[in-house]
Amino acid sequence: MNFLALETSCDETSAAVFTDEPRILSNVVASQNDLHARFGGVVPEIASRAHLRNILPVIDEALAKANVSLAGIGCVAVHNTPGLVGALLIGVSAAKALAGTLGVPLIAVNHVHSHIYACRLAAGRDIFPCVGLVVSGGHTSLFRCDSALSLTLLGGTRDDAAGEAFDKVAAILGLGFPGGPAVEREAAGGNPKAFAFPRAFQHDTRLEFSFSGLKTAVLYACHGQNVAKATPPPAGQTRQDLAASFQAAVVDVLVQKCKQALRQAGLSRLAVGGGVTANTVLRSRLQEMCDRERVELVIPPMSLCTDNAAMAALAVEKWRLNEFAPDDLDAEPNFQ
Ligand code: ATP
Ligand code: MG
Ligand code: FE
Repeated sequence: MNFLALETSCDETSAAVFTDEPRILSNVVASQNDLHARFGGVVPEIASRAHLRNILPVIDEALAKANVSLAGIGCVAVHNTPGLVGALLIGVSAAKALAGTLGVPLIAVNHVHSHIYACRLAAGRDIFPCVGLVVSGGHTSLFRCDSALSLTLLGGTRDDAAGEAFDKVAAILGLGFPGGPAVEREAAGGNPKAFAFPRAFQHDTRLEFSFSGLKTAVLYACHGQNVAKATPPPAGQTRQDLAASFQAAVVDVLVQKCKQALRQAGLSRLAVGGGVTANTVLRSRLQEMCDRERVELVIPPMSLCTDNAAMAALAVEKWRLNEFAPDDLDAEPNFQ
């Protein structure tokens, strides 16, 4: 049986077709980066309007690429939580309309849980139990994952998400949006030890994160504490050193907290998802830690790390349990 899934939680409009195996037949993503770049961050109202324009063409393309017609869809899935409410509503409304007109069941999926399920898709086999880390523009959360659907939050960020910190530091350094790739490119030529930036909760057993102090430390390192009289962002080697030192601080705490979570949970598998996983320094440092700890690391390819609808194949697990959504399904912006 074929599923059609929709993702519109933030700034990517995505539709995917997959089988109940699950096997991905298509995964189409329309990015809105160009629309938000001039604002240095995602503007919710612009995101909603772009989803509205993109959703039907993206669905058509996903069906065409999968070589499946609407009549061949037996179930519709949608990420209805968490995210920007106006953005989520576009996907939820489209999914409800499709399921209703096709007369097929609707399944609601948690977007953050799907980021972990992307690891299961990439592995092509069961990966549970494991520790899961979701590290993206909106989330930095550690989970104990006993199965695809039973996730217990071990801890998360108290303020900014790691990806948000990358985006804001990119703005401070005068690099583009999205900030992650820009900061990583700049950091490649820098010295990660040039600036001693803070690593929050590093010597604490609590599985929590905080990145807003780090962001402020980068701001002060650039302009001094009198930011009202902001000077132009530093250029050349200093900027490369700032980017490298910032990135090292983020990577250090992410790796450290994963190690602590694995030891505390007594688990020997780590599944990592979300857009920040694109960072090659993070990937290699996680791999080194996992090798030392004799832990299996599962990281999906990039196409499944950033926001996409294929990871909503988590719906297949719900379908097996007959966990269908009500006809009046709503968007839930907050992560419960
Ligand atoms: P959500 O948080 O709801 O999942 P999102 O759109 O913010 O939504 P993703 O699309 O998964 O999340 O990831 C985007 C984030 O990943 C951005 O903050 C971006 O800066 C960050 N990112 C992308 N590439 C890199 C990189 N190479 N290094 C660090 N961060 C990166
Ligand atoms: Mg995004
Ligand atoms: Fe996401």
